[in-house]
Amino acid sequence: MSNPLLQSFDTAPFSKIKNEHFKPAFMQAIEDARAEIDAITKNTDAPTFINTIEALEFSGQQLDRVSSVFFNLNSAETNEEIQEIAQEVSPLLSEFSNDITLNEALFKRIKAVYDQKSELDLTIEQDTLLDKKYKSFSRNGANLPDDKKKRLREIDTELSKLKLKFGENVLAETNAYELHITNEKELDGMPEGEKEAAAQMAKAKDKEGWLVTLDYPSYIPFMKYAKNRELRKKLSLAFGSKGFHGNAYDNQENVLKIANLRHERAILLGYPSHAHFVLEERMAETPEKVHEFLNELLVKAKPAAEREFKELEDFAKDLDSIDHLQKWDGSYYAEKLKQKLFDLDDEKLKPYFKLENVIAGVFKVAEKLFGLKFTEVYDIDTYHEEVKTFRITDEKGNFISLFYADFHPRPGKRGGAWMTSFKPQYIKDGENVRPHISNVCNFTRSTPSKPSLLTFNEVTTLFHEFGHGLHGMLANTTYPSLSGTSVYWDFVELPSQVMENWCYEKEALELFAKHYETGETIPMELITKIKESATFHEGMATLRQLSFGLLDMAWHGADPSNIKDVKSHETEAFKGTQLYPDTPETCMSTAFSHIFQGGYSSGYYSYKWAEVLDADAFAYFKEKGIFNKEIATKFKENVLSKGGTEKPMVLYKRFRGAEPKVEALLERAGLL
Ligand SMILES: [Zn+2]
Repeated sequence: MSNPLLQSFDTAPFSKIKNEHFKPAFMQAIEDARAEIDAITKNTDAPTFINTIEALEFSGQQLDRVSSVFFNLNSAETNEEIQEIAQEVSPLLSEFSNDITLNEALFKRIKAVYDQKSELDLTIEQDTLLDKKYKSFSRNGANLPDDKKKRLREIDTELSKLKLKFGENVLAETNAYELHITNEKELDGMPEGEKEAAAQMAKAKDKEGWLVTLDYPSYIPFMKYAKNRELRKKLSLAFGSKGFHGNAYDNQENVLKIANLRHERAILLGYPSHAHFVLEERMAETPEKVHEFLNELLVKAKPAAEREFKELEDFAKDLDSIDHLQKWDGSYYAEKLKQKLFDLDDEKLKPYFKLENVIAGVFKVAEKLFGLKFTEVYDIDTYHEEVKTFRITDEKGNFISLFYADFHPRPGKRGGAWMTSFKPQYIKDGENVRPHISNVCNFTRSTPSKPSLLTFNEVTTLFHEFGHGLHGMLANTTYPSLSGTSVYWDFVELPSQVMENWCYEKEALELFAKHYETGETIPMELITKIKESATFHEGMATLRQLSFGLLDMAWHGADPSNIKDVKSHETEAFKGTQLYPDTPETCMSTAFSHIFQGGYSSGYYSYKWAEVLDADAFAYFKEKGIFNKEIATKFKENVLSKGGTEKPMVLYKRFRGAEPKVEALLERAGLL
């Protein structure tokens, strides 16, 4: 029987793939990749850039394709069987990648090329690739004695299992909880559309009444609108205590194990901490610099945050005689106060943001800026009937990229929104192989009476993920490992965050923000209010982001071996950033997937870091016109198409003419 994953394919052959194909495909692809590596090390010719560095770069391509299909499925359309396969193959994959990075013969050849670097006539991209390959070995123990190499392998295998387990626990805890409501009065305050969605959810599970879950599209509206304070408290505590119940899905041990193993790994390699290790390859470079950055913003944002909190507490007291504002009151009263100040709520805006219109809008923005054209196509194999596919071409009709879009929540999809790819971009044998990019989101579904209408937050999320998408689509580099979003972590959010800025501009909104029933363009008055309200509670929001960044650094910036209790360590890290009273039943760390499952460890600060970049970059567009083609082209040519081929600061300065300034962010956030 032929395995579709092992045949060469352009678009991923989802309809032919069965779960039983994955494991053999992984085994075979790993074996083939090993043979390719052997061919490099057994080469009797002297090591050269081409026969060693480039050969290594283009090895294991089949394995990469199989992995991207599989792990994208495990995020967007998983089930127990796929999760089991993931548990089985993840150790095999880290074993394989460790085998490469600890392959002495291979490292010897790479080092030989690296040592003669100054005599080689390399392009800038080749130079970057050589550095990256060399470091991927030295940072993975290539210079270590055998016993330490062995320990490193054990740690990596263990870490990959723990990270998977962490994520599965969060998903299990999210799915295990539901707030079942049978008395309609308990939904007082909820907009009709939200009630309808909750009723639908109950119906789908053969239950009476309404269901509210811990998925964002269900959780967020309830916290924002439901009058019933006790139920808000109940839901908020359930949301905040994922992985913190002392049951089979508890993540406390996993958190401690992950932090300690990461630290041990860093020490083995000669770094003082995991953060030092990680930040060596970041724009920020050191933990000291990150702390300095976070604390500078904290000093500037805290007075504003405290002012906002006091105002919110006074407001809740006036309105409902609430004496002490709690976590579960925040979004409810903030929404009410926002309504009072701006008379602008999501429900007023949502009719102007029908999903299909927003998609057309983001495509239009990309067309005006970068000359891209999007055509929906129906002959591409997908993993779920809801996934849409688009063919992207440039002004001359050249094929640029394939784009998959998967917008709505399903039980097998993890929460949040992300960009990913099924095929990378690269140039080989004179051919520029174009990428297959995907956006996966969890947007409110349509109901029998209404199309999918996005909240403004969902609109900016869509633009954000699409910005990552553009980084992938417009990639134009030779080597796949330097292509698209393969950049330093604290640079990767620039393309995504900068795109969000267009959602606040009249000129852009007029392109797509049209009422789903009347077709009327969003009124100027609403646009003004969107802009004015955009910085509402910006101080509190900044404080919250900084608290996550500081928590991340608290887990990774120093020796964690003395941490006995996850919750008290967290409380200590949060000191100075918390406005609400603590709730002993909740814990952020046990569901902090970004840093314990994803790749953001010692990198959460990069959201704010990138905000500085994006505010500064967009100030340039504002100055010259938000659809100024010249600026857009500079952005495309120096940032979007360049991937990680050069140091981000160099690329940025080439686009902007100067280094980014923190003032642009403070000004936009109204914190100056
Ligand atoms: Zn992002």
